[in-house]
Amino acid sequence: MTSQHAGLTDTGLVREHNEDALLVRPPLFAVADGLGGHQAGEVASATAVRTLLQYAPRRADARALARAVKQANEAVMDAAENGRGHAGMGTTLTAAMVDGLRVVVAHVGDSRAYLMRDEGLTRVSLDHSLVADMVRQGSLTEDEARIHPNRSVITRALGSDPNLTVDTFEVTGNPGDMLLLCSDGLSGMLTDPEIERILRTSSDPDEAVRRLVDSANAAGGHDNVTAVVVRLDHAESRDGAPGFERPVSLWSLVAALLLLTVVVGCLGLYGYARSRAFVIAEDSGSVVIYQGLQGSIGSVRMRWFVQRVPVDLDALPPTTVVRLREGIAAKSVVAAERLADQYREQAENTKTDPDQPPGVITTSVPAP
Ligand code: MG
Repeated sequence: MTSQHAGLTDTGLVREHNEDALLVRPPLFAVADGLGGHQAGEVASATAVRTLLQYAPRRADARALARAVKQANEAVMDAAENGRGHAGMGTTLTAAMVDGLRVVVAHVGDSRAYLMRDEGLTRVSLDHSLVADMVRQGSLTEDEARIHPNRSVITRALGSDPNLTVDTFEVTGNPGDMLLLCSDGLSGMLTDPEIERILRTSSDPDEAVRRLVDSANAAGGHDNVTAVVVRLDHAESRDGAPGFERPVSLWSLVAALLLLTVVVGCLGLYGYARSRAFVIAEDSGSVVIYQGLQGSIGSVRMRWFVQRVPVDLDALPPTTVVRLREGIAAKSVVAAERLADQYREQAENTKTDPDQPPGVITTSVPAP
């Protein structure tokens, strides 16, 4: 069985590290070429590709894909600011989504998207580079651009501009056409006719990416080289679609509702507890006023200390002492304070009237 898509990256023959990254997650494909040196380029390109995968739309939608590229841009800037990588690091990003014969591309930098059709190889993306601008102005030819000393100067990249502009393209091919995404380590080493010949004579994407990378290395391998090839077919579409637009499963909906119920319940209970108070005797010389509820829920107690009021319990009727030791609920902290004061006064009155035995209530204490 022949492949419908393949990706391959190689360090090349000159560089020590491979700062390119690629993504082959049908229908999403991407190539990123990191910049920044000292391995920061690797962080930038890997961050971009990972973020793209996270935010890519479910279907081939150019504007949504461009939004995912912008998310990747923010992620690279965040990584630089937070010390993962280096300030000034960046990356190109050429992303494509394939829906049958339709291809949408979102693009920043000088990595490229090509479409190989019967009529020949066409470039889908436009390079954001100094030499590409010069070629467009007519001051440089394609061949001169490939060997120009400033050929690696790019005019747009992820990682520096929060208002990054992302180019989008949309093309429709025929069954058997090949989409190629590649870093400049390929397009800088091979001419478009050489790339076209390899794509035309490869039996499938696996063979195509292998021959493209081998040929770039055979031509000098001056840079990291990356190629992703997708053969267009009516069937190549939505399997394994990544992104955040996945339908929400019933179970996650039920779990979310349960969580919401628990949170609302806890908030309601907390609010109720805050509105209540109680008075309780914890020793024989005072009562304590708490805001909250008596008892506990499991090991959780919903009560907050308010104040301690001196009350001589020995001077109070035994039945009152029993109730106080269990705690007497009040509708509010103010009501609880009033209750504690009344018990304090009752105890003091009993002591100043020694003929009055404990157990006879001389002060009327209203219900809390
Ligand atoms: Mg490169």
